[in-house]
Amino acid sequence: MVAEACIEGKPGVGGHAACLLLVPPLIKYAAGPLLGPAMLKGAAAAAGLHVRLIDMNIRYLRDRLTQSNVSDLVGDHDRDTAALRRIEEAWLAEARDWLPSAPQTERVRVDACSAAMYEFEEIEHAAQKLAASVHGSWMERLLSEHARPSCVGVSIMFSGQVIWALATAIVANRIWPSVPVLAGGAHITALKDEIAADSRYGRHFDRFVFGYAETTFVDAVRSYSRGVVLPEECVKAGERCVRIARSDGNVAPEFEGLDHYRRERTTLPAQFSRGCAYGKCRFCTYPAVEGAYHTLEESPVNAVIDLAAEIGGAVSFKDSLIVGKRLESLSRLIAGRVQWSACTKLHPWLNAENLAAIRQNGCRTLELGVETFVGASQRFIGKVQTRELFESVLTDASQAGVGLVVNTITGFPFEAPDEAEREYEAIRSLVDRVGGGRCKVEHNRFELERRAPLATDRGIRVTRSWPWSSLLDWEEAERPIGRGVSLPILG
Ligand code: SF4
Repeated sequence: MVAEACIEGKPGVGGHAACLLLVPPLIKYAAGPLLGPAMLKGAAAAAGLHVRLIDMNIRYLRDRLTQSNVSDLVGDHDRDTAALRRIEEAWLAEARDWLPSAPQTERVRVDACSAAMYEFEEIEHAAQKLAASVHGSWMERLLSEHARPSCVGVSIMFSGQVIWALATAIVANRIWPSVPVLAGGAHITALKDEIAADSRYGRHFDRFVFGYAETTFVDAVRSYSRGVVLPEECVKAGERCVRIARSDGNVAPEFEGLDHYRRERTTLPAQFSRGCAYGKCRFCTYPAVEGAYHTLEESPVNAVIDLAAEIGGAVSFKDSLIVGKRLESLSRLIAGRVQWSACTKLHPWLNAENLAAIRQNGCRTLELGVETFVGASQRFIGKVQTRELFESVLTDASQAGVGLVVNTITGFPFEAPDEAEREYEAIRSLVDRVGGGRCKVEHNRFELERRAPLATDRGIRVTRSWPWSSLLDWEEAERPIGRGVSLPILG
């Protein structure tokens, strides 16, 4: 019965939806629903408002995935990477026909379409084309299954959804002219200053919400339904107003359409804290986007665990970082009812005894931000961790049977490529040797993000930005000597 709090269709909630909450493609993940939209729906349900959550992303993926494999890892890395990449590639090939050639960049190495590295008009042109295509007809059919809502919410987690999100707003307005469209999500929060400064962001979205927004969302849906003044945190683009939304991380998320996700070990998301307890990594945007660190209550987490246990699923914790003591509490709370995963950081707490205990209580995967063992880069990014600690955590996790996803990054500013490559290969061979087959090394190239502290570092000169992209192009400006002292680059 506890899990009832997490499933759509609670007693007394039904009928005409006050808001359609949409998750546009394309996110390469099919094992389970996203947490943010489910939290908004849960908050609305608790306030007696009926919100329908349409995960267009999973429907898009489902139509194209021929099979669903379950990996040894639980969490974000539990996916059929090759199949999802093929789906993304096919979409990007279509989208490139509607966009100019990719911009030449100094440092950015990711796909320009996926990172939305185009001007306003170029992105909007692609969105118009998408809305007019067979995909637009598909979106129209999905939305037309519902009566006209008082408002539409679009959740945008990353840049790869931007063209789809704009097209969704265009289609929603085609079906229901003048229906207000509200945009929010992590990507919108990352662009908050730019949105506040430029009305062009508002050509297809009526209002924007920045940050976690359960309370503001409920008030906004109620205001739209009653035709009264919106909460002041629902801002218009270009009005020079950045108000962070009011949040409530202690509501029980409400999931909708669970049968659309992978049937085998459907993975439900949960959160035991918001923000990052460390918060010092200068390449990372999470502290800026998520706000100050605070812990959350056990009861909503418990409801998600109960539901996951009922459906034979797993739980993936979406906290930026769960510190050792909190992993211990979580582990006791879960008590082996489900398999689960979490993100943490190298720490002596991750020893043989503690890792064996969390494994016994269901922990199957920990994601670790190891990043690099290039000493100068560690100091530059503010994340100094020892090789010895890494090796001992790897050994103990392997013996305990806890899988590790080891995140690494190369290409930091002022980093010697050959040294970075050597250190990366050393991590890989250590994982191959000690990791016992349950560990995976994930490699990314450093990209400069708008909200990362490094974006305003005097050692880095930003050379280009794009309105809908969170990435910045850059070049090295001043070489750091120790902490906070820089020299100009000569020649
Ligand atoms: S990289 Fe991880 S530990 Fe570092 S600030 Fe970001 S979330 Fe926190």
